[in-house]
Amino acid sequence: MTTHTNLTVLLSAPDTGELEQEYVLRAMQSGWVAPAGPDLTAFEEEVAQRVGVRHAVGLSSGTAALHLALVSWGVGAGDVVPCSTFTFAATVNAIRYVGAEPHFVDCDEETGNMSPALLEQALTELKAAGKNVPVIVPVDMLGKCVDYTAILNIAEAHGARVFCDAAESFGATYDGKPAGSFGDASVVSFNGNKIMTTSGGGMLLTNDGALAAHVKKLSTQAREPVPHYEHTEVGYNYRLSNILAALGRAQLARLDEMLKRRRDWRERYRELFANAPGVRILGGADDAGDNCWLTAIVVDPDLSAWTVQELSAALTEAGVESRPVWKPMHLQPVCKGLNGVIDGTSERLFEHGLTLPSGSAMTYDQFDQVQSAIMKATE
Ligand SMILES: *Cc1c(COP(=O)(O)O)cnc(C)c1O
Repeated sequence: MTTHTNLTVLLSAPDTGELEQEYVLRAMQSGWVAPAGPDLTAFEEEVAQRVGVRHAVGLSSGTAALHLALVSWGVGAGDVVPCSTFTFAATVNAIRYVGAEPHFVDCDEETGNMSPALLEQALTELKAAGKNVPVIVPVDMLGKCVDYTAILNIAEAHGARVFCDAAESFGATYDGKPAGSFGDASVVSFNGNKIMTTSGGGMLLTNDGALAAHVKKLSTQAREPVPHYEHTEVGYNYRLSNILAALGRAQLARLDEMLKRRRDWRERYRELFANAPGVRILGGADDAGDNCWLTAIVVDPDLSAWTVQELSAALTEAGVESRPVWKPMHLQPVCKGLNGVIDGTSERLFEHGLTLPSGSAMTYDQFDQVQSAIMKATE
């Protein structure tokens, strides 16, 4: 919670080693030290293939990917965009960059993912109010896919696009289909703390070739394909570096191994809390499709006799990092005055939830340190 200089076990530290060094060095030696080059192209192809989409556009961040698809679709002032309230600020920031109005939708108790019932209510109310709703943005919370069957059906019935914020769910599946392959387009993030990293970076994933081409153009200053610098629309400098793409290719080669390690922690946490009264894992009992990016517990203090705030303080003392789950966007000062359909669920999860060390670079000895600290604090 507070920054502590003696933290020895981190929530989700980057997991990089010799393979990453080798790939990055090779990219530098190739001379492609630029936001263009063969590693960037190959990284896009490899990610598209892994997720099963036709197009992937490598960008400087997941936020940039969120921003540019909204720009390309012409979403802007006068539009309302329903999105998860229980999310990281980037989802909402991107909607505001283009001048549209985020409309917050609360979540399901078990998973923290956008509630289909509340989305339906939001879309019905917005339609009755005569609002224009070009797109909705659900978020796959901590690496668990939203209920895509329900969400896609509701959006289709209301004529809205679905833009999936899969920043946290790369490597996860829903109904056997990879996260990032749903809806009109998806965003993944390769930030330093995500399931795999390019230090900073992200991608837009889509089967829509025109969208992918336009986003790529927008990300490279919207230069027209002529010899001189010709511009007919406002561009951005958002392209992913070839060097970072090389790092991403090494990470992608290790993704399954890293997913396995995170799932291992999930299983150990489940065992650790199996008999703890009032404690559950956010996401529910079925995590077969999750990427287990971060494991978070939700605690009912009436049953547990301790609070997540107390546990967090004890973990900090023991050198272990922990963090509250996302503070709902409708509670953020920066979102004052924005509306939505809020039923109190995300507020409760925020108050009683705690994210625990889950990184694939965590060692078994470090997990033992986490486990001992938890047992001591909760006995
Ligand atoms: C990390 C994250 C993002 C932003 O990704 P960046 O690559 O850091 O810009 C967007 N949405 C969610 C839900 C995230 O967790």
